[in-house]
Amino acid sequence: MTELKVISASAPGALPAEPFMARHLIDGMWRDSADGQVFERHSPAHGVLVTRAALGGEAEVEAAIAAARRAFDEGGWPEMSGKERAAILLRVADLIDRERERIALLETLESGKPISQAMAEIEGAADLWRYAASLARTLHGDSHNSLGSDLLGVVLKEPVGVVSVITPWNFPFLIVSQKLPFALAAGCTTVVKPSELTPATTVILGELMAEARVPPGVVNIVLGYGQPVGAKMTTDDRVDMVTFTGSTGVGKAIVAATSGTLKKVSLELGGKNPQVIFPDADLDSAVDAVVFGVCFNAGECCNSGSRIIVHEDIAEEVIARVVALSREVPFGDPLNPETQVGAIISREHQAKIDSYVKAAADEGAEVRLGGAALRVPGLAGQFYQPTIVAGVRSDMALAREEVFGPVLSVLTFRDEVEAIALVNDAAYGLSAGVWSENVHTCLSFARKVQAGTVWTNTWMDGFAEMPFGGVKQSGLGRELGRYGLDEFLEVKTVTMRIGRTRAPWVNTGSHA
Ligand code: NDP
Repeated sequence: MTELKVISASAPGALPAEPFMARHLIDGMWRDSADGQVFERHSPAHGVLVTRAALGGEAEVEAAIAAARRAFDEGGWPEMSGKERAAILLRVADLIDRERERIALLETLESGKPISQAMAEIEGAADLWRYAASLARTLHGDSHNSLGSDLLGVVLKEPVGVVSVITPWNFPFLIVSQKLPFALAAGCTTVVKPSELTPATTVILGELMAEARVPPGVVNIVLGYGQPVGAKMTTDDRVDMVTFTGSTGVGKAIVAATSGTLKKVSLELGGKNPQVIFPDADLDSAVDAVVFGVCFNAGECCNSGSRIIVHEDIAEEVIARVVALSREVPFGDPLNPETQVGAIISREHQAKIDSYVKAAADEGAEVRLGGAALRVPGLAGQFYQPTIVAGVRSDMALAREEVFGPVLSVLTFRDEVEAIALVNDAAYGLSAGVWSENVHTCLSFARKVQAGTVWTNTWMDGFAEMPFGGVKQSGLGRELGRYGLDEFLEVKTVTMRIGRTRAPWVNTGSHA
């Protein structure tokens, strides 16, 4: 039996006596579904009912898109000054801070993530609203006064229009905050659909936006499934853009669905993110980052450091140290403030994680730690042991596909050329990391790897100012930073002539 640090059921008082009731927000009104249908979400850690939500259908999406269209075309949101929009976004940020504990508790109950992590994410989300407010005020285009003394060129940046915002279950509040305030700062109006597994905190955000006086119709929220809600949000011709975070499979389906109306699309998809460890690395820091990279959010993270590529001379030492440190990570009841890894989102997902590990073992890989579900005393939900699999070959599914669980694949390399080849031998290109005390090794790595983000001697540091997104099949476009605002803007070229200096195209003889 694997010795792990298991935190048993420990905070029963925090479990809800009554479920959170979630409704759609359409044109500033909270609504049940026209047909009265609802769906329920139970806590993946405790098995208790957390949320009862209205189940949206065609009627609700139709009304939400119509409201967003009206708010954009007639409601005055895009015409409002950046200063006014920024003031509203700042009020939302303050309200998020005020409601931080309530939001974090529901986030933990619906997703199974540790409460301390949820608290940090809500704080980070408020920061994103503040940063987007600063972009709303500083948004500007460009001018060209070098086209000739009789010409002036102006490049305007205008909001794209109505944006569909579709989010997943792994970081519900943080991911909606990576998109929504940037869209609003640009002057867009929106229809938002959270994952059906984690609707509650997006609904709370809707309450806070109403309190912050976001005008009716500017943000609409429809609860329900990808079919039909998400699908209609990607095909309706009144929608100008779709921003999506989730699986690569659904991302591809969205690109296909939007092609009929040629919408702008921004996608944050999966990753199979490697950390390469050279023999001269500071192993104390590298090993800690490896354990953090794979265990954070139980590995249910697009940025999960799910592959390490270790120099063969130090591979055994690194594996032994990663196994030892993984045993020290507190796994268990997400409501306990000491817990660092909580529950897996659903039983089906847990089975999928397990099937990847079993398949790799069948193909000759060696499970050095974990490789099975974890029993947490007093809790009915599903947990998966931190799992370290050595001897993984790059042709195995475990090395290539997004497992989305606390499962680390260990591969080895002999020289830099082989390490870079292994990094780039992937359909994904979200992030990559390197551990070496030699700055030349780090810089060379950063230049050669195919990834949207490179970390050298660190892992998963993120900032509102720094763009985030992937290359290859990890996505299209960028979030955060000034680039994150640009996604929601169209460029309009205005060319102005000063005086009657234009030579006539048709020569009538009258302009002698
Ligand atoms: P999905 O990509 O299926 O879901 C993400 C969001 O898209 C949800 O809101 C979902 O709705 C919605 N959706 C589903 N189908 C459509 C559609 N045809 N059109 C528009 N919207 C749609 O992720 P899952 O939650 O099903 O997770 C499956 C796998 O995806 C995970 O195991 C993981 O590997 C990966 N994943 C990756 C993430 C990332 O950040 N890279 C995040 C989440 C998952 P619904 O409510 O029906 O689920």
